Order: sequence, then structure tokens, then C-alpha cells
Amino acid sequence: MIEDKSQQHTPLSDLGEFGLIDHLTKNLKIKQESTIKGIGDDAAVIGCNTKQMVITTDLLVEGVHFDLSYMPLKHLGYKAVIVNLSDVYAMNATATQITVSIAVSNRFPLEALEELYSGIETASNIYNVDVVGGDTTSSKSGLLISITAIGEVNKDDIVYRNEAKPNDLLVVTGDLGAAYLGLQVLEREKEVFKVNPKNQPDLDQYSYIIERQLKPEARKDIVKLLKDLEVKPTAMIDISDGLSSEIMHLCKQSKVGCDLYENKIPLDPQVISTCEEFKIDSTTIALNGGEDYELLMTISQEDYPKIKANPNLTVIGYMTEESKGMHLITRAETKIPITAQGWNALTD
Ligand code: ADP
Ligand code: MG
Repeated sequence: MIEDKSQQHTPLSDLGEFGLIDHLTKNLKIKQESTIKGIGDDAAVIGCNTKQMVITTDLLVEGVHFDLSYMPLKHLGYKAVIVNLSDVYAMNATATQITVSIAVSNRFPLEALEELYSGIETASNIYNVDVVGGDTTSSKSGLLISITAIGEVNKDDIVYRNEAKPNDLLVVTGDLGAAYLGLQVLEREKEVFKVNPKNQPDLDQYSYIIERQLKPEARKDIVKLLKDLEVKPTAMIDISDGLSSEIMHLCKQSKVGCDLYENKIPLDPQVISTCEEFKIDSTTIALNGGEDYELLMTISQEDYPKIKANPNLTVIGYMTEESKGMHLITRAETKIPITAQGWNALTD
């Protein structure tokens, strides 16, 4: 008989800290050649070959970065990995290892952490990264997850934020604004549910935007695509806070300006229809919504023929001299300065 684990509530104290670590990590497999030693010793050991290493970390806090009332733990585990890998790919690097640290209150049974780890495992398999360590501790309330991702890249292939040049094309992958709108739909359904718990929402028409919020992907494919196309961006950043704040980072660090064309910003039809329903402007959402995890890059004009036919890459503007400033050219062809609302993690 297949046991239905979702109904079980094994207290974490039944396992103890070491039992818990063993239990959660026992299925994780080593896939990378550079992983010399994974979980089990005082530290993981990663082989350094001729490449350079990139390392990045993110901390996710319950109630600040995620809400478990609509975020299934499996998705949370998956997303926690994705947000870190996205930063590795934004350096034009290949992600190879992650570490996973968690703090949990006794509100969570073992089965909840198994769900979290099944999402982490799925992401680590799909993205071909090894889980090589972490830390496990208790918290007084709520759940914290901190993931660190490690990647490798040939020295000549690394792309920073600070080498965009005037006249470079501004290029974005995928489409924008969907994850933020997905969150708005989920928040609305949560309020409806509070009033009437029997109400089963029909979310079919929002499937894409909800998936972009709950199960985002990182653009590993773009790192490979750029290599295949023999294009090295002059600068690159991942879009975690919204297009306008990422453009401002690129411009400030590269000491350039930018003209961004409103009519070029790629939007999914579901974003357009949901914006109409919510009576919000889709450009505002693309500029200021967060969590798209697409890549924003600048490329030299010379490389335009290599990218122009590619459906993954959209030219949305070009870089200018720093003195010209940063502007959005609207559909009505007026020029307005770009300001970042972004997502200020410390104030919202
Ligand atoms: P230490 O006391 O040296 O910090 P731990 O007992 O915390 O060691 O961890 C034992 C091993 O398990 C280490 O390899 C550590 O990296 C790994 N580990 C601990 N917690 C986790 C976790 N949540 N996920 C993955 N690996 C973990
Ligand atoms: Mg430890």
C-alpha cells in the first residue's frame, strides 16, 4: 500500500538535528566533476580548474519573501534554488553547486521539510547542480532559507554589469511583469478565501502568470544560447527587481545612459489581459514588478545580426552617453525619465 505522507505530522524532535540532516539529504546525488566532497564533512571541497568561480547568496524569510498560505513548500524549495542560479547565469557562468541553510520553527513537521527538499532536489536535478552542504537550525517563529550558489566560467567569458557602452543594444530575454501580476492574483484569491473558504477559485485564465510567480525558471538556456551564437554581452544583470531598477544598475555601473522603447517591452497576452482586468498599466508592471528572473543585457551593434531572429531575445532600446540620462520613449513618442521604484526589500 502506498502511504499518504501528506497526512503525517512527524515532529522534528523525533529525528534530532543529525537525523534530520541525513533524512533530508540522503537522496541528493553528486553530478558535477568539480564536487570533490559534498555533504558530510566539516566543509565541502570543490576542485578549482582553470576556470574562475562565481559565488552568490540569497536569504528568504517567511512573511517577507514568501507566504506559505499560497506558496506550496515544494515550490518554495524550487524557487529558492532558482533565484540563486539566476544570479550565476547573469555572470554568464555555469552553476555547479549550492548549499542550503534552513532555520525552522517546531510548527513544521518533518513532512513539510520533505516537501521543501523535494523542490530543492527537483531544481538541482533540472539545473544540474550539486547540493554540497548547508546548515540546519531552529527558529522561534517561521522558516528561513538561505541558499548559496557556486558557478564556474572561463575568465574571458565573465560578463559584469559595468561594461556597457554608448550605442550598445539593450536586450531582454523572455517576457516581463508576469510574476508580479501572478502574485496580485494570488493575494486577491487569499482575501476571497478568507471571506468564503468554500469558494474554489478558477485560476485557469491566470495559469501562466501564477506559474511565473510560484515556479519561476532561471535562464540557464540563455548562457548556452549566447555561446552558440558567439555573442558575449558587454554587460548583463538578472531581472529580480523590475526592469527599471535593473536598467539603472547597468547604466550607473557602466556610466552610460539609455533610451528604452515602451512599444518594444515584451509582454505575455495574459499579462496584458490581467492588467486590463486590474486596471493597471502593463508598462508600469514590466518596469516595476519583480521576480521575472529574465536576463537583461547589452550587446554591441555588430552582434545584432546574430541575435535578431532569435525569439528568446528582444531588443528594447539602446545605450547612450551618460549625460543624456535614462529615458522611456512612450508609445506616444514622449520621453520620460526612468525612475526605479524597484522592490526595496527593507521598506516594503
Ligand atoms: P557542522 O556542525 O560542522 O556545522 P552539521 O552537523 O551542521 O556540521 O552538518 C553536517 C553536514 O551536513 C555538513 O556537510 C553540512 O554542510 C551538511 N548540512 C547541514 N545542514 C544541511 C542542510 N539543511 N542541507 C544540506 N546539507 C546540510
Ligand atoms: Mg552546521
